[in-house]
Amino acid sequence: MPDSETRLGHMLSRLRERGQRITPQRLAILRILADSEGHPSVEKIYDVVVRDFPTTSLATVYKTVTLLKELGEVLELEFSQGSNRYDGSKPFPHPHVVCTRCRRIVDPDLESLSALTAQVSRQTGFKVVNHRLDFYGLCPQCQKEKR
Ligand code: ZN
Ligand code: MN
Repeated sequence: MPDSETRLGHMLSRLRERGQRITPQRLAILRILADSEGHPSVEKIYDVVVRDFPTTSLATVYKTVTLLKELGEVLELEFSQGSNRYDGSKPFPHPHVVCTRCRRIVDPDLESLSALTAQVSRQTGFKVVNHRLDFYGLCPQCQKEKR
């Protein structure tokens, strides 16, 4: 897994290539995305950035996230219920585990993923180029609180 400083550096150079200005607000947004602890929503990113940069608007966060998505530098996780969530740490398809109670999202490290992909390909004749694999349940914290 790429470390967040490497990811941040990469995002910055991709934006500069596009002639994008890197404002302090934008840098703060990128830092959060490069780390993507818990897979933040746009609103969550905004809540954090606005503390240090009170002039930040939600639109600025949306624009930055959308641009990075277009550049393939952030993975968007769409949910029919609740906000979309983002992963700029691993901007390629990978499985997720979603807590149905607190909406926490983590990345499981599945050794069997490549074997599973090969099996899908073998059974269906498809050349697999992408996947969506989400597991749902209660995170350890929520299991404790339920008792
Ligand atoms: Zn939970
Ligand atoms: Mn992820």
